[in-house]
Amino acid sequence: MRCPFCKELEDKVVDSRMSEDGSAIRRRRECLSCGRRFTTVEVVKELRLRVVKKDGSREPFERGKIMEGLIAACYKRPVAVEKLEAITAQVERQVLQKFDREVESRYIGELAMRRLREVDNVAYVRFASVYRAFNDAGEFFDALKPLLESSDPDEPTSDEGDGKGTGVIIPGDSKNEGREGTQ
Ligand SMILES: [Zn+2]
Repeated sequence: MRCPFCKELEDKVVDSRMSEDGSAIRRRRECLSCGRRFTTVEVVKELRLRVVKKDGSREPFERGKIMEGLIAACYKRPVAVEKLEAITAQVERQVLQKFDREVESRYIGELAMRRLREVDNVAYVRFASVYRAFNDAGEFFDALKPLLESSDPDEPTSDEGDGKGTGVIIPGDSKNEGREGTQ
């Protein structure tokens, strides 16, 4: 390890200790050239799980994207953000337990959907329709956002209260419009 003071490469380890949770080892080193001491930290380099999107492209797994999708789906719904955080944590845990290299975005979406269904049916329908179309929470969020923002927050929508309607028109999925009561 290059000495941060004199830039020489030779040193000896004078002390090693593990962090409390065992996730890192700190080594106290002494430069053989100038005699000054410095510390290095050794940690496990995490293998980053990658998400395979519908088009076959890959991107790093990010829990933030799940959360964004859930928040968008729960817009104006009586769902506490803690609930969404809990769902996100459960989905993340399940995904990381089962996969260590790659996971299909569809799988993540289905997990989140299932959890959301137990919490709020309207949010579930929103999430399910849009997620299945876009197959990516990030794209889903981007697509849903303008729709949600353009709706007048003070204007009660006709389907509010019965818990059946989505309150959102899904682009490119016109068969869903006016389907209330048909299921
Ligand atoms: Zn040195």
